[in-house]
Amino acid sequence: MGISTVDPSHHLNLEDRIQALRQSLPPSVRIIAVSKFMPPEAMRRAYGAGIRDFGESRVQEAAHKQSQLADLPDITWHLIGHLQTNKARLALEIFDWIHSLDSLKLAQRLNGLVGDRSPSSDFPRPQVLLQVKLRPDGNKFGWQWPDLEADLPHLDQLGNLSIRGLMTILPQGLTVQDQQTTFTNLHDLALGLEKQPWQRLSFRELSMGMSGDYSLAIEAGATMIRVGTLIFGSRPLGVDSL
Ligand SMILES: *Cc1c(COP(=O)(O)O)cnc(C)c1O
Repeated sequence: MGISTVDPSHHLNLEDRIQALRQSLPPSVRIIAVSKFMPPEAMRRAYGAGIRDFGESRVQEAAHKQSQLADLPDITWHLIGHLQTNKARLALEIFDWIHSLDSLKLAQRLNGLVGDRSPSSDFPRPQVLLQVKLRPDGNKFGWQWPDLEADLPHLDQLGNLSIRGLMTILPQGLTVQDQQTTFTNLHDLALGLEKQPWQRLSFRELSMGMSGDYSLAIEAGATMIRVGTLIFGSRPLGVDSL
């Protein structure tokens, strides 16, 4: 299997880890550097090492960092965490991509907000991925497959969103075999959906794979990986359950 994983050892500094990661990937794969809970200085270093895509899980934190990094104009901001309806407007202002669209209701809300914008405001049309959970995972948001199938015709009507593909987060504790199967299943579902005659929906983008499982995700066809720890080191203890 072609992809070697980056040794997360602490011998390498952040710049070297990014370079090693980049070199281990096909050039077409987009690295989303997941910078949640990491300070803006670390993001500057990652930027200096060539990273232009940053992933944040909380809207407020991202807004704060965006103002601190305002001198870096060509960052693409990705929302990867659950979006509450009351933050939808702010999310549209600051994120270019929303990986974590997880309900028809939220989709309709975003679509309405983009549609309401005054000509002077600049909500660009957000690039959106649909979060799917192919395996039961009580802790995670996302559509289960049959529910998504039922909602797709409605999602296809939302002219102000640019829906580009699927995203998934694996539940904890799967065997490597099950991780691989799940990623492959998602890829197959996306291929099947891409063949259907939608008005607007596209399924070419697949956001899957994190520090621990990105090489499997890439073998299964990921176009974007969301990598935090491997680039920035460990997050403060406990924050992942917030
Ligand atoms: C935190 C997070 C990641 C990054 O996880 P690492 O294991 O640190 O690479 C990726 N995706 C989502 C949705 C996350 O919340």
